[in-house]
Amino acid sequence: MTAPAPTPLVIASGNAGKVREFAHLLAALPLEIRPQPEGLEVEETGSTFAENARLKATAVALATGCWALADDSGLAVDAMGGAPGVHSARYAASDPERIARLLRELAAARGPERRAQFSAALAVADPSGAIVLEVEGHCPGLILEAPRGSGGFGYDPVFLVPETGLTFAEMDKATKGRIGHRGRAFALLEPGLRELLGAG
Ligand code: IMP
Repeated sequence: MTAPAPTPLVIASGNAGKVREFAHLLAALPLEIRPQPEGLEVEETGSTFAENARLKATAVALATGCWALADDSGLAVDAMGGAPGVHSARYAASDPERIARLLRELAAARGPERRAQFSAALAVADPSGAIVLEVEGHCPGLILEAPRGSGGFGYDPVFLVPETGLTFAEMDKATKGRIGHRGRAFALLEPGLRELLGAG
């Protein structure tokens, strides 16, 4: 008897860093991971991570006729009233410029004033665009005064997770996958996803 064909799942993101992390997190599931179609831009008009994740999952499912998994995520800094938050990707033009702007804003902040939290909202849409699963994961940490480490993406080099003594950019994939906001969200999503795939 041949094994059932893996279910196609489109990762509703053009962010290579996120797509790499999902490829790792989803590796054990019977899925055929597909990138979202080139040139597809979904406007993130929501005011919360969850709203934007739903918008992206639905739009990509409708555009492809496949199951879609979307992630909307970002960094909320306590001393900045939760900024850059849902605007994390648009905070500056490139990862180094986003980090430079953040470090400038926090130049006078010391110790606990540098507390921050990463959040990731995940949403899964079925091929008709209906949202069938949604979860959110968080990871608290501190913004360092200078970048450390060369892995990951985005704000990873300045985000320290105190209990590990490491920045996200210094962690291997498995550690960030266990401790990070996306990994924590995925741990909440996985049982429902397995059930949907009949792979429980
Ligand atoms: P969006 O979810 O596409 O709106 O973009 C989220 C933005 O938040 C990314 O472009 C990064 O700048 C930042 N971000 C989200 N997750 C991470 C992460 O795991 N590490 C570093 N930066 C992240």
